[in-house]
Amino acid sequence: MNLHLNKNINKRDFPRLRNSSRWTALGLTITALVCFTSNCRHAGQTENRERKTMNNTSENTIAANDPLAIHRRAIVVDMHADTTQRLVDEKVDLSQRLADGHLDAVRAKEGGLDAQFFSIWVEPELFGGGGARAMKRADVQIEAVRNLAAKHPETWELATTAADVRRIAAAGKIAALMGMEGGYAIDEKIENVDRYYQMGVRYLSPAWSVSTSWAGSSGDEIGKTRGLNDFGKQVIREMNRLGMMVDVSHLSDPAFWDIVNTSTRPVIATHSGCRAITDVPRNLTDDMIVALAKTGGVVNVIFYPEHIEPGYSEKKRKVDAEIATLVQRASDEEKGDVAHKKLARDRVRREEFLKRLPPVSVARIADHIDHIVKLVGIDHVGIGSDFDGIQAVPADLKSVADLPHLTAELLRRGYSESDVDKILGGNMLRVMEEVEKK
Ligand SMILES: [Zn+2]
Repeated sequence: MNLHLNKNINKRDFPRLRNSSRWTALGLTITALVCFTSNCRHAGQTENRERKTMNNTSENTIAANDPLAIHRRAIVVDMHADTTQRLVDEKVDLSQRLADGHLDAVRAKEGGLDAQFFSIWVEPELFGGGGARAMKRADVQIEAVRNLAAKHPETWELATTAADVRRIAAAGKIAALMGMEGGYAIDEKIENVDRYYQMGVRYLSPAWSVSTSWAGSSGDEIGKTRGLNDFGKQVIREMNRLGMMVDVSHLSDPAFWDIVNTSTRPVIATHSGCRAITDVPRNLTDDMIVALAKTGGVVNVIFYPEHIEPGYSEKKRKVDAEIATLVQRASDEEKGDVAHKKLARDRVRREEFLKRLPPVSVARIADHIDHIVKLVGIDHVGIGSDFDGIQAVPADLKSVADLPHLTAELLRRGYSESDVDKILGGNMLRVMEEVEKK
C-alpha cells in the first residue's frame, strides 16, 4: 500500500515493445494456454500439477526454453497486494474477472500466480494508530481473506507455510497468505503479535507511512530520528520466536538498522526498490540491501513507478498539486463513509496519473532486480507487486495477468531458468522455511 490507497485502472493500450514478434508469440502462447485451462478446469489442474513438479527432461509438450513455459513451471509468490481492502470496502468477487483493479482469480491464473500475500493494512489516519477500531479493521480484513478460501475452495486455499504453498501450487490452486502492513493493530500489546500469528498472519512491518510509538516510518518527520524502542525490539523477538517474518518495507532508516541488528531470523522487504536507482525514502540503500542479505533475507521488488523510475516522484508531486481541487471535489461529492471517500479520491488520482505521467516499463523492475543481484547475488531478490495499492502500474504489467512479461524480460537479460525460479518465489519459500524452524 502506498500513500494514497489508489486502485489503478489502466486503460492505456500496450506500450511500444522492443521485440514485437517475440511478444506476439508470447501473447499467442498465453492465449492458447488460457483457452485450454478455462475450457476444462480438471484438465487445467492436471497440467498445472505437472508443470509445478516436472523437470527439464519432461516429455511435456511445452518447449523447455519458452518464457511462458518457464514462468508456468515456477512457483510464483507475490509478497504484497492490497486487494484485501477491495474485498472489505468494495465487496469485490475475486472469483470473477474484474473490470478494474489489478488482481482476481481469473487474471491470477492467466499470470501463473501461485501464492499471494494479502496485506492486512490499517490506515491510521482513518482507523487510528491503535485501539479497538484499528484492531477491528485488521480483523475484518483477515476474515475477508479467510472467507475467500472458504467460499471458493476450488480456487483459493489458505496457507501459512512454505509447504502449504508448494502443495497448493501443485494442486493447481492459488495459496492465500496474509501479512500485516504497519503494527497499528498490535495496539502496543506484545500478546497481540501472537494473536495475529494465530489468525494466520505470517509477516509484519512495524510501521506503514505513519510512525508507531515503537517504530519509525520512512513516511513522516519523526521517523527520521526514530528507530525501534525497547517495545519494538520485544516485538521483533516475539516474531522471531513465533516464526513470523519481519518486513522492513516503509520503515525509517534508523528502524531498519535496529531491526537487522535485533532479528535472529532472515529479514525481508516485501515491497521496496533500490535507492541507488530511484532515490526515495521508501527504497533501500546499497548498505541496507547488503545487511538484509546477510540475515539471509530477500528484497522483493515493488512494481510501483514512483519507487522504480528515476525522477517519477518529482513529476508526480507536480501532478498531485495540479489535481488537488479535482481530488477534493470527488471526495466531497462521495456520500459514503471515510473509506469510500478515499476510494473516490483515488479514482481521480489514478485517472489523472495515467493521463499526465509518462509510462514506465517492466524493464525498470528488472533494473532493480539486476542491481540487487549484482550487490548480493541471486538468492536475495523476489517480487512484491503492491497491486491494488498503487496509483499507477508499468504499462506492460497492468495486472497480475501480465506477470509472464517480467519473466520474459529476465530471460532476455540472461537469467537462467533456475535464477528465474528463485526470483519469482523460490527465494521467499526458502526464507519462509528458515523462519518456520522452531
Ligand atoms: Zn505499502
